[in-house]
Amino acid sequence: MLLVQYINTFSLNCRMKTLFEEIKASIKNNYDPDRSFWRPVLPWGGVFTIKAGRKAVSCTPLYVEINLKNTCTIDGFLMLLYVILHENEHFPKELSLHLGREFVDYFLYLMDSYNFTTVKLLWIWDKMEKQQYKSEVHKASLEIDLFGNEHDNFTKNLESLMSTIQESYCSNSRCPTRMQEDLHRTININPPQEIPHGDLIQRAVDELFCSKIELCEQYGCNGLREFTQRVFCHGAPPFVVLNMQQWKPEELAYVPYHLDLSDHKYLLEGATLFNKEEHHYSAAFQIDGYWIHYDGLRNVNLILLNKPPEFLLLSSLVYIRAAENK
Ligand SMILES: [Zn+2]
Repeated sequence: MLLVQYINTFSLNCRMKTLFEEIKASIKNNYDPDRSFWRPVLPWGGVFTIKAGRKAVSCTPLYVEINLKNTCTIDGFLMLLYVILHENEHFPKELSLHLGREFVDYFLYLMDSYNFTTVKLLWIWDKMEKQQYKSEVHKASLEIDLFGNEHDNFTKNLESLMSTIQESYCSNSRCPTRMQEDLHRTININPPQEIPHGDLIQRAVDELFCSKIELCEQYGCNGLREFTQRVFCHGAPPFVVLNMQQWKPEELAYVPYHLDLSDHKYLLEGATLFNKEEHHYSAAFQIDGYWIHYDGLRNVNLILLNKPPEFLLLSSLVYIRAAENK
């Protein structure tokens, strides 16, 4: 009886914390004055060893391990996706409709249990197109290189979440392109043209999403073109990724915490950052109101920030849909 009790307590104490619990505990118990800590968080790269069974011996496999390189183009987003799924209780179910239930369940299981190379392979094989990455066999290992742009490697593959459409109609009945549809697979916003002030990001989002009337650009047509509101093809998604690559640091002095987008309110959750000299991506996100910088290439891969990061080298902003006020 006593032994059973002992074993029960023992197994309870030894139950491994999930990655998310581990990060939360680190934030809570962080007494280190420089506020940086290493955790077994998603590292850069990865090696996946294929366990050769009896069958494999007879058919001589081409490779026995998979080597991942330059994975920072997906790492930051995978961390953000993980945090978003854990912090919002209804999102896993909703995201299952877009990304597939098996994908979401397996993704959470692999991240929770620190299977980082496998989770990257899940993304590569389930969500990426073959032509989006380079792969070749080196001796006995398959090398997959994700060098490139993170919007190509990640955001573009969220088509069912990020796709939007806007229709427009020209007032001139002889206009050869009277009805037009403008479909975007990602949300790419451009800084406003004139020297403006105030909330540039909200204005750029409005410019992309709001209805408007402009002169028709069709050659020789003097009609007025009326644009409808831009809408999400599959409903307002739980989170949005804004592609910020066109923005200069001086235009990013103010990053809004609240964003009105397609009749919904969104809240800032995180960002991905790009270091041009190193051609390297990292990410920042919030947990329980604390800002954390993540960089899988560094030994100190998580840094708890004193204040929200300065978004000077932005690659993207990530917003989550606010709960509806009832
Ligand atoms: Zn026209």
